Amino acid sequence: MTHDELLYWLKETDKDKLEVLFSKADEVRKKHVGDDVHLRALVEISNHCSRQCHYCGLRAGNKDVKRYSMSKEEILACANKAASMGYGTIVMQAGEDFGLDVEWLAEVIKEIKQKTPMAVTLSLGERTKDELVLWKNAGADRYLMRFETSNAKLFKKLHPPISENAPDRIQILKTLKQIGYEVGSGVMTGIPNQSWDSLARDIELFKELNLDMIGSGPYIAHPDTPLGDDENCHCEEQSDVAISENQVPANVEIAYKLMALTRIMCPDTNIPCTTAVTVLNGELGFRTGLSCGANVLMPDFTPPEYRVLYQIYPGKGQNKTCVENDADVRQLIMDSGRTVGTGQGASPNMGKHK
Ligand code: SAM
Ligand code: SF4
Repeated sequence: MTHDELLYWLKETDKDKLEVLFSKADEVRKKHVGDDVHLRALVEISNHCSRQCHYCGLRAGNKDVKRYSMSKEEILACANKAASMGYGTIVMQAGEDFGLDVEWLAEVIKEIKQKTPMAVTLSLGERTKDELVLWKNAGADRYLMRFETSNAKLFKKLHPPISENAPDRIQILKTLKQIGYEVGSGVMTGIPNQSWDSLARDIELFKELNLDMIGSGPYIAHPDTPLGDDENCHCEEQSDVAISENQVPANVEIAYKLMALTRIMCPDTNIPCTTAVTVLNGELGFRTGLSCGANVLMPDFTPPEYRVLYQIYPGKGQNKTCVENDADVRQLIMDSGRTVGTGQGASPNMGKHK
C-alpha cells in the first residue's frame, strides 16, 4: 500500500468499507500465519522505572506508586505454572529498572530455559548492547520494545532521553536484530499530538525494520502523568505536530484499523491483540482483534498483589485477560473459529530472514 492508501484507510469510518479492510487482513493472516492463536504468559517482574515518560503511570516521577521487584523464586513459580498450562512463551516485562541485576536476570533466564520448554521474551526498555548480548547468551529468544511513534521530535518530547548521545529506540531495535533476537515493536495510537501522517509513517517503519512481532495499542490517559493531567498538558507547545482535526483519536477503532493495516503490510509477523484494546473494549476487543489480523494474546501471569501495582494506565490491573481466566480465553479463541497454538509460536518472519 502507498502512504496515501494507508492514510485513506486510517481515516475511513464507514463500517461497510472497513469490513472489506478487516476481511482482507483476516485473509492475509490465515494465509501467512494460519489459524493458531499463540498464548504468551506475561509476567511483570518489576515496576521500578528510572525514566520520565510523559504518558506512563510507572514513570519515576510518580511518587504515589508502591514499587516492587519479584524474586527469582516468584518468577520461576510463574514460569513453571505457565509451562504446566501448555504456554510456549514467557514474557518478562518491567520498567527501565537499573536496580535489576543483569547477571541475576541471566541466571533466571538460564533456569527457565533449563526447566521448561518455553521461549523467553524480554521487554525491559532501553538497555546496553552488552546487557542484551548477555541475556541472549543466557537463552533469551525475543525482545519487545515499542518505538511508540515515528515522529522523532514528539517521541523525544514525551520520552525524555537519558543523555544526548544515548542510542534511540530505532537504533536499539536494529542492534537487537544483529544480536539475533526475534524483535518486536509497536506504537501507541492517539497520543496527544500524533498526526495521521505520522501514524501512516509508523506502519511504513514497521516494514522497514523487518519486525518479527508488532504490538500496538490505544493510549489511555493516566491522571498522575504530565500528559494525563489536563492542567499540565504540554500539547500546544509544539508547532509542527498534530493539532485538532489532524490529531489521531485514542479509541479502539483506530487500533483495529492499525492492526489490519499492519497485517497487510507485514504479513508474516506475529501480531498480538494488546491489553489496552481489551481494557477499553473487553471481550469484544479480543474478538475484533482476532478478526482483523491478530494471532497472539498475552494473558497476565503476574501475581495479583503485584499486578495491581503495575498501573501503566487506569484499569490495567483489572484486565480480564489473565491466568485466572485461562479457560475463558481458550474458549473465546475456539468460539472465534481459531485454534490455540502449541509450542513456542516463533514468528514466521524470523524464519524467513534467517
Ligand atoms: N519499560 C519498558 C518500555 O518502555 O519499553 C516496558 C514496559 S512499558 C510499561 C510497555 C508499554 O506500555 C510501552 O511501550 C507503552 O507503549 C505502553 N504504555 C505506557 N503508558 C501507556 C498509556 N498511558 N497508555 C497505553 N499504553 C501505555
Ligand atoms: Fe518506564 Fe516503560 Fe513506563 Fe517509560 S513506558 S515510564 S520506560 S515503564
